[in-house]
Amino acid sequence: MNLPDKRGYFGEFGGKFVPETLYLCLEELEAAYLDAKKNKEFINELNYYLKEYAGRPTPLYFAKNLSKYLGIKVYLKREDLLHTGAHKINNSLGQALLAKFMGKKRIIAETGAGQHGVSAATVARLFGLKCDIYMGEEDIKRQKMNVFRIKVLGANVIPVKSGTKTLKDACSEAIRDWVTNVKNTYYLLGSVIGPHPYPMIVRDFQSVIGREAKKQILKKEKRLPDYLVACVGGGSNSLGLFYPFYKQKTVKFIGVEAGGLGKNYGASSLLEGKIGILHGTKSFVLQDDFGQIKNTHSVAAGLDYPGVGPEHAFYKITGRANYVSVKDNQAIEGFNLLSKLEGIIPALEPSHAIYYLKELAKRQKNSLVIVCLSGRGDKDLEIVQKYTKK
Ligand SMILES: *Cc1c(COP(=O)(O)O)cnc(C)c1O
Repeated sequence: MNLPDKRGYFGEFGGKFVPETLYLCLEELEAAYLDAKKNKEFINELNYYLKEYAGRPTPLYFAKNLSKYLGIKVYLKREDLLHTGAHKINNSLGQALLAKFMGKKRIIAETGAGQHGVSAATVARLFGLKCDIYMGEEDIKRQKMNVFRIKVLGANVIPVKSGTKTLKDACSEAIRDWVTNVKNTYYLLGSVIGPHPYPMIVRDFQSVIGREAKKQILKKEKRLPDYLVACVGGGSNSLGLFYPFYKQKTVKFIGVEAGGLGKNYGASSLLEGKIGILHGTKSFVLQDDFGQIKNTHSVAAGLDYPGVGPEHAFYKITGRANYVSVKDNQAIEGFNLLSKLEGIIPALEPSHAIYYLKELAKRQKNSLVIVCLSGRGDKDLEIVQKYTKK
């Protein structure tokens, strides 16, 4: 299995649709990554920080109350227990170490809701790197606490005033900075998106989720699961869980996208998007008839992105994974369900996946399911409170 191929393609998806200056940055990055991947010192150091700093391995918890309620056997992969409260730290640790190995002194990152900004600022502190976070002016207004968190961590937030002043504009500004300052600067991308080699690098760093889950389920159940279920924003926690099971065709993958308020008012790129190019990669993109990027909406900020990783596009076209959509109000239902039954308050992103279990349970009684609980719900309490008052 060679995913992606040497040119960075997953079938017809992926690639590097970028100007020449950026092309050179990406080649330097790819060479450094392929070296690091084989370097014992790099691997040992990454494993050390994943264990001692982030808190790996995370438990694979048998959710007995939820299982009884649904009539299927549900295990939760507890990424919510990690330092900073979500799976994003797996990737940030990996890339920050890579930056250190490359001799870079400064990290830049883009952020929408601020979760990736927090995770990048965290690892920058850990490794003593300077850190600038690009964030749209609109998002800065909406996400005051995360902006403050980033500042407490000693990083700098750079407001982006162009375009819609949101995530996609922050992405474009970060890329501009990188091209200008590549000598000392590392661009830490937050999901399996962007030009090659990012979708591969982020997937590899997140695959620790699936590798652990596979060992854990074989130990607990003496067999592979029937289904893996995870929410899809850019697609990194889902691919991290799915990828190590790619060759085991009896294990079915279900990716859950944000349906927002319903058809055409969400962020379901794989279900409602068309093939196009966004941020240097070819994949499914939410766009109008003229190819302009659509405004997306989801109650879960982390799912609110108009594109999706190219490897997911490939899984969709080849039928390796199925993609479904769950709406805002249903995600809130999933949020309450897990809180009430298990005493675990999930982030709104994986609440989409939790809700979908209800649908799955109707058709597939007694099946064995692993869900990626990508993050904890502390950050979302205010949103849920406002939503419930409505
Ligand atoms: C950012 C985020 C996501 C969405 O990103 P993916 O790359 O699709 O994983 C999902 N869950 C949580 C908790 C997040 O913070």
